[in-house]
Amino acid sequence: MKVSIVGSGYVGLVSGACFAELGHRVVCVDLDAGRIAALRAGRPPIYEPGLDVLIRANAGLGRLSFDTSLEAAATADVVVIAVGTPAGPDGRPDLSQVFAAANALARAARGRLVLAIKSTVPVGTGDAVEREILSLAPQLALSVVSNPEFMREGQAISDFMQPDRIVVGAEDAVGCDMMRRLYAPLTNGGATLLAAPRRTSELIKYASNAFLATKLSFINEIADLCEAVGADVSLVGAGMGSDPRVGRAFLQAGPGYGGSCFPKDCQGLLATAGDHSVELAVVAAASAANDRRKAAMARRVIRAMGGFVQGKTVSVLGIAFKAGTDDIREAPAVRIINDLVSAGATVRAYDPQAATHARSALPGVDIRPSAINCCKGSDCIVVATEWREFAELAPAALANVVSNRLLVDLRNVVDHEALSRAGFVVHAVGRRPHYPSANLDHDPIGEKARRRDHSAASPGEAAHAPPSAAYAS
Ligand code: NAD
Repeated sequence: MKVSIVGSGYVGLVSGACFAELGHRVVCVDLDAGRIAALRAGRPPIYEPGLDVLIRANAGLGRLSFDTSLEAAATADVVVIAVGTPAGPDGRPDLSQVFAAANALARAARGRLVLAIKSTVPVGTGDAVEREILSLAPQLALSVVSNPEFMREGQAISDFMQPDRIVVGAEDAVGCDMMRRLYAPLTNGGATLLAAPRRTSELIKYASNAFLATKLSFINEIADLCEAVGADVSLVGAGMGSDPRVGRAFLQAGPGYGGSCFPKDCQGLLATAGDHSVELAVVAAASAANDRRKAAMARRVIRAMGGFVQGKTVSVLGIAFKAGTDDIREAPAVRIINDLVSAGATVRAYDPQAATHARSALPGVDIRPSAINCCKGSDCIVVATEWREFAELAPAALANVVSNRLLVDLRNVVDHEALSRAGFVVHAVGRRPHYPSANLDHDPIGEKARRRDHSAASPGEAAHAPPSAAYAS
């Protein structure tokens, strides 16, 4: 089939490269001429594992091309819209890119247009796009289909090629049939295609993201309780997740969720519910809990540093909103860095992939080329993204370069016991702190400090100050 993808960002590029890999002839279109020129030269503008190889292989076979013009795109068997739908000022998704693309396609299309909306759009957008196109091109045989995307950045290619489900919301047989043909290489291999009415399909995407966001806010609140009662959230999450009714995914406590989807999709869903006078109290609470959590993380670091960061140096490891991507949109690390800078700290940061984006988003912050370089002379290390390389850092190497052996692990990824053996005080989310060369259960000084801090800290900020200067050399 001939397939056009309008919008060559994360979703558009991964989808385009994967559809080409499945044997379709694909053109990826974008307004951004620099982006298209880079893609033609074999350089993807985003970091996504395996994407560069997939793009080069399929471009080499002549199955994947890139263009800035919508003219040719409009004649494909299926045109996929994958433009951005960022949050607008009132929290509702800004649909201007979707309607601009639909408008241009209405003018360029001839005869038949099967338009699949892969961008995340509120319920009813398919109806509105259909009306808009038909008002401009009433002669078109038009099928507007909802086809939400569930890929996760960092594992987007495997998510696309081995999907849990493919959701298609078509209102007519031609649209439905074309989408079945588009995905036949996957469904023939056993993938499930769930056909639903268009509005239902649109809502499946929002409900899925809001549910996952709720799971994260839930485990983050349980992490706060774990700190207060001396339990371990990693084990609580594992114990809960062993029950298939609960599931293991999204039960890792952290600094709050970020990224380009969960925060905006929760707000978008709440706006839709508000428009229909429906109260979504659970989603509203999950969203508010996440905002509070992100705001609390810098205070947690400051408490661990004794309540005062003026003139001190903090090294933040990880800027991307999660491991495996260079995306820093709504990243908790960005909030933490800005809050620490506002509190008077000197902040340096390192990320294996997000340095370029970080330099433009955090102009005053010193972005370092490696984790060890970032930690040189540091008064406190903060692990803000769960990159595997942070788990593999040698504690002795870190101990040798820092000024003060203090680490706050907001992702529970580093080996706390190994670090404590190297002389570090380690604070974590939802777990007891570790003090130098001591198993806390047998460390009366550490236990004393833990109790003292629990009585002082407010809920959600139960980070523990180092027990004494002697431990923090
Ligand atoms: P993005 O911002 O990375 O990419 C959007 C691209 O569309 C940009 O390159 C932009 O230049 C281009 N564009 C805008 N208007 C255009 C037009 N009229 N013609 C051609 N190109 C145009 O966005 P993204 O992260 O890929 O997200 C796209 C959509 O998919 C959003 O609705 C998002 O919520 C949804 N989504 C994203 C993810 C994710 O992990 N990023 C996952 C699932 C769904």
